[in-house]
Amino acid sequence: MLIIQKYGGTSVGDCQRIENIAKKVLKSRNIGDKIVVVVSAMGGETDKLIGYTKYFSQLPNEREVDKVLSTGEIVTSALLSIALNELGAKAISLSGRAAGIRTDDIYTKAKIQDVNTDNIIKYLNDDYIVIVAGFQGVNDNGYITTLGRGGSDLSAVALAGALNADICEIYTDVDGVYTTDPRIEQRAKKIDKISYDEMLELASLGAKVLLNRSVEMAKKLNVKIITRNSFNDNAGTIITNEEEIMEKPIISGIALDKNQARVSLIDVNDKPGIAAALFSSLANSNINVDMIVQTIGRDGKTDIDFTIPKTDIALCRKLLSDFRNSAQGIEYDENIAKVSIVGLGMKSHSGVASKTFSTMANENINIMMISTSEIKISMIIDIKYAELSVRALHNAYELDK
Ligand code: ASP
Ligand code: MG
Repeated sequence: MLIIQKYGGTSVGDCQRIENIAKKVLKSRNIGDKIVVVVSAMGGETDKLIGYTKYFSQLPNEREVDKVLSTGEIVTSALLSIALNELGAKAISLSGRAAGIRTDDIYTKAKIQDVNTDNIIKYLNDDYIVIVAGFQGVNDNGYITTLGRGGSDLSAVALAGALNADICEIYTDVDGVYTTDPRIEQRAKKIDKISYDEMLELASLGAKVLLNRSVEMAKKLNVKIITRNSFNDNAGTIITNEEEIMEKPIISGIALDKNQARVSLIDVNDKPGIAAALFSSLANSNINVDMIVQTIGRDGKTDIDFTIPKTDIALCRKLLSDFRNSAQGIEYDENIAKVSIVGLGMKSHSGVASKTFSTMANENINIMMISTSEIKISMIIDIKYAELSVRALHNAYELDK
C-alpha cells in the first residue's frame, strides 16, 4: 500500500513537533507501507519570508520571491529527514524539482503540469521514506516556482495522483470537516465521509482543513483524501467519489458566507443584450458573480439582482456607471449573508426546498434570493439572521444526531 501523508505548518511548527511527526511517520511505515511525506513550511514561516521580500520593494521580482518562499518547505523536509534517520529509518528529502514536480512559469501561483515520478519511485523501491518539500515545483527553464498560498495540499494530491497512491492523508490541527462551523453551532458534528462535490460546495467549512483547489484536483485525478488531526489518532473525514458513499445523507452540511454583497438593477430595459453587456463588463474586470436572479419582465422592464464579493463593490460601482441609462436605479446591499445547505441525498428526495423555506419562515427570516443546484440550496438573507439561520437549519435537519 502506498500512502501520501501531508503535514501542515502547525504540525511541523517547531523541532519537537517535527520529531513527533517523524515518530508518527515511522509508525505508519511499520505497518508495512510505502510512504511519501509532503511537508509545509513551519507555521508562520512563509509570512515571514514574504515580509523579507517586501522590505526591499512593494513589488519584488517574482522569480526571486519564489526562490525565497521555497526555502520554508526545504527546511522542514530536510529536518524531518534528519529526524527520521536519527530514529533509524532510511529517509531522504527531495525539493520540488528533485521530486519531478513540473509547473508552468507563472511565478507565485504556478500550476502543476505533470510529475516525473522516476526519482521518487527509485527511492521507494530502495525502501526509503521519501519526504517532498510541498508548495513548489520547477518550470521549463529549470527555475523554482511556488503554487500559491496553501499550495502544499496541491503537491500532495498531485503526487498521490501521479503515483497512483491508495490514499492521500492531509494532517492539520483540526479533526476533520464539520456539519457546520462549530463556532456558530457547538453541536456541529464531524463528518465521516463526504463526496468531492459536496466538499466543493461546502468550501467555507473545509477552508481550515484543505485548499479547495486540491479538492478539485483530487476529483479530477480520483484521489481519495482523508483529513486528520496530527495531534491525535481520531478518524478524520474521508473525501471521495460519490459511488463510494453508500448512505447518502439528505443534508451533509450548512455553509455560511458573509463576504457577499447584493447588487440590484431596477427596471432594466427588457431587451436582448443587456445581461450580456452587464456580465461581460464584470467578467472582464475579474469580478466573480455568484448568484443571479432576473424577474419576469413587465411593461418592457425587468429587475436583475446578483451577488459579488464585498471587496469588489467599489470596482462594480465604477463599471455600472455605464449602465445608468439602461436602468431606473442601481442599489447595493452589503448587509447580506448567503446560507447554503448541501447534500447528495437531495437528488433523490423531494420536500427539501419546502422544509428549508418553512424553517426560515418559522424564524421569521425573509429570503431575498434563492439559487439551487442538484445538491445545494443557497439563500441570501439579512446578515443579522446569518447565525440564527444556520442553527435553525442544523436543528431542522438533525445534523447533531
Ligand atoms: N507554506 C505555504 C503557505 O503557507 C504552503 C502551505 O503551507 O501549504 O502558504
Ligand atoms: Mg496549509
